[in-house]
Amino acid sequence: MKEQALTTLFNNAKICKLCSLHENRINCVFHRGSPYSELVFVGEAGGRTENETGEPFVGRSGKLLDNMIKAMGFNRDDVYITNICRCSPPNNRKPTPQEMDACKPFLIKQLDIVKPKVIVALGATAIEGLCGKGYGVLKRRGKWEKYNNIPVLPTIHPAGCLRNPEWKKLVWQDLRNVLKFLGKIDS
Ligand code: URA
Repeated sequence: MKEQALTTLFNNAKICKLCSLHENRINCVFHRGSPYSELVFVGEAGGRTENETGEPFVGRSGKLLDNMIKAMGFNRDDVYITNICRCSPPNNRKPTPQEMDACKPFLIKQLDIVKPKVIVALGATAIEGLCGKGYGVLKRRGKWEKYNNIPVLPTIHPAGCLRNPEWKKLVWQDLRNVLKFLGKIDS
């Protein structure tokens, strides 16, 4: 069962000390949603609210992501959501490459258990963590890449859309592209 495999992994992540982010850990921000989903969203790392609750995307960015997921015709619990890092960096800073590498084995195993048809990478850290370094998010968004043979569509992080609401239109274009890929819409 996928749940059982993920719970075992989660229990290991809760006590992980492979990087210094564990010093800031109140809760391990492991995942949310259905492990049977064909659609996975990967973000960067939790912020303060996520650290306090242990759930990814529950702050302001999370509300926006929930609305986007709803607009796609899903409930927030229909899809699977995780992050590049499972511990929240202090003061909402970006995780370092070393911290991203240290957490990668968890991400790899989670994706190996969930086996999604498609991954949406939210923001530069997610894109780099899944597909490697490249151009900035505004150049990479909307163009298909691959992680381990799974199609990945990079898009702008919801926090970016909160800073620049114009970008929501671009994200919506990308999410429609994902719906087309999944055969949920024609054009
Ligand atoms: N919350 C998360 O869980 N991940 C992000 O990338 C941002 C907020």
